[in-house]
Amino acid sequence: MTSGAFLMSLWMAYSTAQSSAAEMELSPDIHIHELRAHVYRLASPEFLGRRGPGAGRTARCLADVFGRLKLKPAFGDSYYQDIPHLLNEGAGKSGIIGRNVGALLPGSDPKLKDEWIIVSAHYDHLGKQGNVLYPGADDNATGVAMLLEVAEYFALSKDKPRRTLAFISFDQEEAGLRGSMHFAAHPPLPFRQLKAFLTADMLGRSMANVMDEFVFVLGSERSTHLRQLIEKTPPPEGLTIGRLGVDLIGTRSDYGPFRDRSVPFLFFSTGQHPDYHTPSDLPQRVDYRKLQRISWYIRDVTKRLANDDAAPAWNDKPLPPDLDEIRTVAALVNRVLKRHDLYPLTEKKRQLVQSVQKRLNAILEKGKVAAEDRTWLMWNARLLLLTVF
Ligand SMILES: [Zn+2]
Repeated sequence: MTSGAFLMSLWMAYSTAQSSAAEMELSPDIHIHELRAHVYRLASPEFLGRRGPGAGRTARCLADVFGRLKLKPAFGDSYYQDIPHLLNEGAGKSGIIGRNVGALLPGSDPKLKDEWIIVSAHYDHLGKQGNVLYPGADDNATGVAMLLEVAEYFALSKDKPRRTLAFISFDQEEAGLRGSMHFAAHPPLPFRQLKAFLTADMLGRSMANVMDEFVFVLGSERSTHLRQLIEKTPPPEGLTIGRLGVDLIGTRSDYGPFRDRSVPFLFFSTGQHPDYHTPSDLPQRVDYRKLQRISWYIRDVTKRLANDDAAPAWNDKPLPPDLDEIRTVAALVNRVLKRHDLYPLTEKKRQLVQSVQKRLNAILEKGKVAAEDRTWLMWNARLLLLTVF
């Protein structure tokens, strides 16, 4: 234990010195070494697991980056949005439980600039428990690294977006989405002009250690325009888009308050892994090439959202179920069953996964997804998330 902590502080000191130059670098390109530098810094002991005083420190660091990029403060003349106490809890003297951090890049088109698009990622994590640091490298230093690099791309690129872009990093996601809930209730620009909400939570690992080339994209079933956008934006080589309905996972990140207000949204995540919410969610376990590819992809999607003539609309009814989603879940299930060296299962869990595999295969053989298949999938995906992953 002690030697592990000692080694950890050694490599962290080493990597901090190595990465500060990369972190400060200003270029519209999204380089691997920049992403890596952001993740290592945010996951370092300096930020105390990004909760309490560590969260305050992180917020100042993010506001500094937005300032260096000469982006406009999102909240009047401030990059910060205070999140007030509800119900007097913890009645500290500040009266706040945390702060969202945000910046704007005003749109360039006279007609479209009043419409806006949000790109976001929460920055808070679990802090320290006793002396043990929860670095939260994947959750969600990877998402913040993407956000900073995408913001930098748009801030420095010559082609200015036609719609206004808002780059928001939420606090208090881990405490029940309280940062994004407060933001959605108190948006800095008119809510009915908000055309799409993108958020990323965990972008650098591999679901159950077996989905290396996959990023999951959820939410497109609620907007025909977003579905088409996902289908016509080619992912970079080496990256596979695994499209899923958001009802398979419930409310697991900051899209919740926006989905509940009928804002078209996309949620990007590489999914859960054995280090999730443990002290071993470490920066050296992140796949930075994958993080780069996902960041490119989100940049490209954002570019289209900012510049296309038409903006997404909300579908009250989700789009009909399709085989793509079944194929994504089947890939996960098949690989987990095949690679017990990568993701061991108890006999009971193996039986559960096998029963799911059987029905997925039957649906694929049939070549179409019936309504009752989709209901079955929803309950079983949630069950698998709770018990196996
Ligand atoms: Zn998270």
